[in-house]
Amino acid sequence: MTLHIPFDNSYARLPDRFFVRQAPVPVSQPRLLALNEPLAEELRLDPEALRTPEGIAVLAGNAVPEGADPLAQAYAGHQFGGWNPQLGDGRAILLGEVVDRQGQRRDIQLKGAGRTPFSRMGDGRAWVGPVLREFVVSEAMHVLGVPTTRALSAVATGETIRRERAYPGAVLARVAASHIRVGTFQYFYARNDMEALVALTEHVLSRHYPGVEGAMGLLRAVTERQARLVAQWMSLGFIHGVMNTDNMAVSGETIDYGPCAFMDAYHPDTVFSSIDSYGRYAYRQQPNVAAWNLAQLATALLPLMGNEAAIPEATEVVRGLATIYADEWTKRFAAKLGLSPEDPDVQPLATRLLDQMAATWADFTITFRALAEGTEVPELLAAQPEFSEWRKDWEAKDPDRAAMRRANPAIIPRNHRVEAMIQAAVAGDLGPLEELRAALSDPFEPDPRFDHLRAPPLEEEKVVQTFCGT
Ligand code: AMP
Ligand code: MG
Ligand code: MG
Repeated sequence: MTLHIPFDNSYARLPDRFFVRQAPVPVSQPRLLALNEPLAEELRLDPEALRTPEGIAVLAGNAVPEGADPLAQAYAGHQFGGWNPQLGDGRAILLGEVVDRQGQRRDIQLKGAGRTPFSRMGDGRAWVGPVLREFVVSEAMHVLGVPTTRALSAVATGETIRRERAYPGAVLARVAASHIRVGTFQYFYARNDMEALVALTEHVLSRHYPGVEGAMGLLRAVTERQARLVAQWMSLGFIHGVMNTDNMAVSGETIDYGPCAFMDAYHPDTVFSSIDSYGRYAYRQQPNVAAWNLAQLATALLPLMGNEAAIPEATEVVRGLATIYADEWTKRFAAKLGLSPEDPDVQPLATRLLDQMAATWADFTITFRALAEGTEVPELLAAQPEFSEWRKDWEAKDPDRAAMRRANPAIIPRNHRVEAMIQAAVAGDLGPLEELRAALSDPFEPDPRFDHLRAPPLEEEKVVQTFCGT
């Protein structure tokens, strides 16, 4: 059984300064931890062939398959608001692109595949923790209907990675509509490289936005996708955690699952990331940060839109994010509450409920699922007189509970479960990984054997911080 990957690499045909050709650095003892068979099928890859030593060698970066054109992409970005003119793939190698069964072009990238010219002080590697976290969380997001990069495989390398302590290394094969970021545009803008900006704009338009024309059209299209994406995150209690401009994909997919997390107890000021000391990327900030990032994209595109003359229109486009976001948010919360999106009471009803949830630190997922199932909401919330009032007003609308069960997951990848899964995997037990994957494959119709995964963390299980743990 030989592995054949039908590559067609359009990014590699862009000008040389877009990337550096770089082969993955081989590892000593590759061992498959997880393979996403349905995704392999989507990509026209043979899952059986991927499980052979030859296939695992490719997924680990030990063999470069025929047709691959491995490279590290150049980009820049604002990190926590501070400008960094030179980032780039420091621990990721784009193997190439394939056209999937739906005719969509998809990147296959190896994350943790060794040093590149963009690695700076880093080792170019990843450890099993963040690799398995991204595997589980990105696939959960996909099943929940959120646009996202996907995880094809996780392979242990047999090598030791030094972080705050020593960890086993791993490589993630990540699949994305593309890995082009707001920061990719910023990279060329900062270098005053108009030719590259034009080429990048054309590439992105033909790849992600066929039918859309020009830099202003691109800005409008990306703004719309990001507005809707962030509204979806908010409707699931998802906190990205590191919305730097280099971690915002222009395709509109969620990318870069570093310190991300789903909230347990609801509070809009929640922050997880250990390095986000000022709460820049707190839950409630996410739509504002998206607009801030889009303003950076607008700046980078300005030379193609006619410079000063384009500022009023570009400003209006970026401001428009708030309206699209509000509209999508209302649609999402209408579905969560079993109401029609046309009902003018959706926004005030959702807000009243969220206020009461925040006041009582009610579990986000459990509260909405309980409303959907007609079971008890968390005790403290139920005891609030304002909640009883709210409940009367809401029940009076005769909410559609079947629709609610399709909008409110029973199971999410809770932080403490993800952490426990990682610890088990480090100790050599992949059982919790397999259990989480199975449970998360059907979050809206959960199998009772996964009921224990629905529970919020006990006091001692609470995860209060997540790490960019590269
Ligand atoms: P991130 O925090 O994942 O968004 O990464 C920010 C930048 O740091 C990117 O340019 C990464 O390629 C780079 N980087 C992160 N971790 C490593 C690592 N272990 N080795 C080399 N570069 C890294
Ligand atoms: Mg990143
Ligand atoms: Mg990251």
